[in-house]
Amino acid sequence: MFSDKDIAHFSNLETPFYYYDLNLLRETLKVCSEAASTYNFHVHYAMKANFNDKVLAQVKQIGFGADAVSGGEVRKAIESGFANDKVVFAGVGKSDKEINYALDQDIFCFNVESLQELQVINQLAEKKGKVAKVAIRINPNVDAHTHANITTGLDENKFGINSWDMPACADILNVSANLEFVGIHFHIGSQITNLDVYKNLCVRVNEFAAWFEDRGLSVKVLNVGGGLGIDYHNPNAQIPNFEAYFKIFADFLEIKPHQEVHFELGRALVGQSSSLISRVLYVKNGKKKNFIVLDAGMTELMRPALYQAYHQIENLSQQAHAESVKYDVVGPICESTDCFGKEVLMQEAFRNDLIAIRSTGAYGEVMASNYNLRDAIVTVTSEDI
Ligand SMILES: *Cc1c(COP(=O)(O)O)cnc(C)c1O
Repeated sequence: MFSDKDIAHFSNLETPFYYYDLNLLRETLKVCSEAASTYNFHVHYAMKANFNDKVLAQVKQIGFGADAVSGGEVRKAIESGFANDKVVFAGVGKSDKEINYALDQDIFCFNVESLQELQVINQLAEKKGKVAKVAIRINPNVDAHTHANITTGLDENKFGINSWDMPACADILNVSANLEFVGIHFHIGSQITNLDVYKNLCVRVNEFAAWFEDRGLSVKVLNVGGGLGIDYHNPNAQIPNFEAYFKIFADFLEIKPHQEVHFELGRALVGQSSSLISRVLYVKNGKKKNFIVLDAGMTELMRPALYQAYHQIENLSQQAHAESVKYDVVGPICESTDCFGKEVLMQEAFRNDLIAIRSTGAYGEVMASNYNLRDAIVTVTSEDI
């Protein structure tokens, strides 16, 4: 929700830009941190959701670790001041260069996604005379009931090691002198709103943990990943129910005294604390369709073009007694998928009206590109106002 002061401030600025509500971000992080502490759970923030420096500074301050999915993110985490023993590194395609860098930084753990990767990390660690801490990312074949493009834990997905490869995995761990097995890792998808999905995950985590322990491989870390969704249809509801989310794991995981539970939340922590602010360039009223053309496009916010994601769109330039009209809200990029919403019912729009595209804190700014040679994206925070 924007105050009149926010809107007055926006109207003096060049658009488009990402606006960050740092108060809401801090509050969200605090609520999550307190809920996690109740159960002694550990959170590593999934940096790929948003690695804006101002966001990372808040995350670091609350004491979370960092979950990186590339060498660049490992570097960014370390350079942003995250303790190296609070950095975890996942990804199906870690290059030798990335692995070597992470070994040099003595990160907490590699979340390993194939048998071959396990062998490569062992070899590279041996060359450095180091022991790499590894967790096995297991593909548990649990349906996350989310959009197909952001489901990651089914047999047909590229992520993780499949259950039938676990015996080979245990064999490699047993003979690799430069690997230290710390635990098991899962991440089954993103924007998960049906919490029952996590009950199914817990059942699988318990099975795999017991399997490893039965073979003499002590599982110290149960890393259940992230994926908790936010309510894109209700951006003002704002803070996700972290308490209910964590409680499921407390209730359904069989946690042994020597085990820690780790989470990797991204979207739920940052999603609601940002909006993309844009202006109407042109209104085109047709026979079949009405279009509003914004000065922001898929180069600033790719989610709708990439996976038909919904974002609430609001006209901030309120007109008294304005009529409601259905618009296709599009950007200026030369692609037909450059569309933020079809048949969106909103108040009649005019050139230069300020438009807010809500809930853009996660997978927004980080996916911006300069396709069409667009200007670099600008960010504004609540502290600039
Ligand atoms: C993307 C990702 C996450 C975070 O997912 P969210 O849906 O943003 O919570 C966590 N862990 C891994 C390994 C990821 O790739």
